[in-house]
Order: sequence, then structure tokens, then C-alpha cells
Amino acid sequence: MLTRRNFIQFSLGASAALAFPEIGSAAGPDWRAQALNRDRNLSLIRPDSKEKATLCYWTQRGGWNVDGYRQACWLLRDVKYSAAVNMDTGLLDTLFIMQMWLATYGQKHDIHVLSGYRTAHHNSTLEGAAKNSMHLYGRASDIYMPGVSPVLLANMGKMLGLGGVGLYAKRGFIHVDKGSVRSWSS
Ligand SMILES: [Zn+2]
Repeated sequence: MLTRRNFIQFSLGASAALAFPEIGSAAGPDWRAQALNRDRNLSLIRPDSKEKATLCYWTQRGGWNVDGYRQACWLLRDVKYSAAVNMDTGLLDTLFIMQMWLATYGQKHDIHVLSGYRTAHHNSTLEGAAKNSMHLYGRASDIYMPGVSPVLLANMGKMLGLGGVGLYAKRGFIHVDKGSVRSWSS
């Protein structure tokens, strides 16, 4: 578990060892890889802690930007237990493509993060949370964008086909993760 202070030290120390995957590198570039071939920015809001960050975690010129990545990991931490981990970079890419895609159509919205990384203890206290949830590994996020229907967001996520997508329409959010490609609604 990390506090804000040692998280920053942790990230700096660990940055050289971070493994950053490339979408499409195995099967050749695809439209998703092309969508990622630009500066990757995220505008995130954490309603729980009232934090907001606009960050760039990858640039066309310099590649991975550790400061931006660290900021994203902090925003996606377990707020309740003040614990952060290195988030799956592919998850950031999924969030980025969704946000950019909407912005391309004139729908500029912050991503509101309800949940990102979760400690095992936190997860065990949540009703209905999967025991081996991707949240435990920093590979999932529950999000919504005010003004955008969760159904539309879920459909975008499914079209991306980069992992799991859960639609929680009544509760007004979607779950995206970097597990196998699958979808569900509840
Ligand atoms: Zn979730």
C-alpha cells in the first residue's frame, strides 16, 4: 500500500522497469493503434476526492511520459484506502480512445472515475464485486461521463474490443478492464 509521498518515490524508482505494451505490435498496426498515434491526454475527475487532472501520459515525440502516467495512476488509486499502484497502460489507452473519439464528435467530457485500483480489503467489502476483480490488479475502472449515456459508452467499449465491458445502466456507469474481451450488463 502506498501513501502519496512514497507513491511518488515508488513511481520514480520503478519507472525504468515499467513495461509498456504497444497495441497492434504483434498483429501489425490496426485502427486502434492509429488512434493511439498522437499525444495521449486524459481529463479525469475523481468525484470521491474532488480531484481533477488533465494529463498527457504519452507523446508522439517522446513516448511514455512518466509524470503524466504517475498522475493518472494517482487519480485511479483506491481513494478510500489511499493506495496506488501502477495502472495497466492499456487501460489508460482504452480510456483515452473513448474520450478522444467523443471529442472528435464535439462531445468533450471529463471522465468521472468511480473506481480504479482497489485494495483486496476494499474489494471484499463491496457487495457484488468479483472476488478476483481486475480492479485488484490496476486493470479496471468504473467510469461515467455526464451527458453521455452509459449505453453509448458501453457500445464504444465493445467496439474497441480491448477487454471487458460491463454496463450498469441503472447505476449510470460502465466498467472497463484489460481482461479478456467480453461484455455483460446488469
Ligand atoms: Zn468495475
